[in-house]
Parts: sequence; C-alpha cells; structure tokens
Amino acid sequence: MTSSYVIALGSNRRGRHGRPADEVRAALAAIGGVVMTSPLVSTAPLGPARRRFVNAAALIESDDSPPELLARLKAIESAFGRRRGQRWTDRVIDLDIILWSGGAWASDGLTVPHPDFRRRDFVLGPVAAIVPDWRDPMTGLTMRQLGARLR
Ligand code: ATP
Ligand code: CA
Ligand code: CA
Repeated sequence: MTSSYVIALGSNRRGRHGRPADEVRAALAAIGGVVMTSPLVSTAPLGPARRRFVNAAALIESDDSPPELLARLKAIESAFGRRRGQRWTDRVIDLDIILWSGGAWASDGLTVPHPDFRRRDFVLGPVAAIVPDWRDPMTGLTMRQLGARLR
C-alpha cells in the first residue's frame, strides 16, 4: 500500500556531494518518490553541534512501511558518510520521519510522529511550508497551528 510521509532533512557538514545544501539535495534524490520539497533554511546549531545546519522537509510517497522506510533512510545516512554515535553532533545528513499518512507508529527504535518535532522551529517551519493542513494525530492540531503556537 502506498503511504505519504513527511521527512525532515538536516546537514551541517560537507560530504562527498559538497556543502550541506548539496548533501540535502542529494539525499532527496536518493530517497526518491518526492512529491514536494520545502525551501532550504539555515539554522543555528543545537546542543553540541558547532556549525550551522541546512534544514528542509519533503513530502514523499512510498510503498515502504515505517520501519522499512527508516531502514532505507539509515542506509542512505551511512552511504553519505554519517558516523553513528552521539545524537545532535555535526553530521553530513540526518533523515527523520516526521509524519506518516497512516497516523501514529510506535515500535522499538521508531516513533512517528517524531516525538520532538512540535518543539522544533527548524522542523515545523519547513513542514508547515509543504503540508500546512496536515493534522498531527496526537494533538489534533494542523502543522500551521503547531507552527503558530511555537512563535
Ligand atoms: P532526534 O531524534 O532528537 O532528532 P537525532 O536525529 O540526532 O536526534 P539519531 O542519532 O539520528 O538522532 O537517531 C537516533 C535513533 O532515533 C535512530 O537510531 C532511530 O532508531 C530513532 N528514531 C525514533 N523515531 C524516529 C523517527 N521518527 N525518525 C528517525 N529516527 C527515529
Ligand atoms: Ca534529528
Ligand atoms: Ca535522526
């Protein structure tokens, strides 16, 4: 069955494709099934990261289940040279599943909607730019409303 997903992308390190914005664009091509892409935004680093991030969101269509999609995203992160380890450190690419047309998913190592997206401007801004009327299954609020609540 085909599902829609919203993916958040972030990069603050150069990789084999070039600068962070090039890494984000290359990741979109690798994911495939992209229906819509937000503008790329520049974001101040969070936590232990040192360099600014390029962030974006994409609406994709896929036959993958949520765990299948996560496995594919992790394979792309590895192929792009992301080193596993600490959270929130400098990285060539970070690919998170934010929303799924099937609603909520919770299994070992995967929670959708992403547990922290409602508090993150660098996620909500790009997400609201592409799917403003999508409703968060947990709060019942639209992406536009969640964004307004944050600001
Ligand atoms: P954060 O998840 O707070 O944005 P991060 O992206 O830096 O932090 P990672 O090291 O990339 O964290 O991922 C840690 C783990 O989070 C992954 O191994 C994955 O199993 C798990 N995870 C849980 N829910 C999701 C989701 N919705 N999308 C992506 N990864 C998820
Ligand atoms: Ca993340
Ligand atoms: Ca991640």
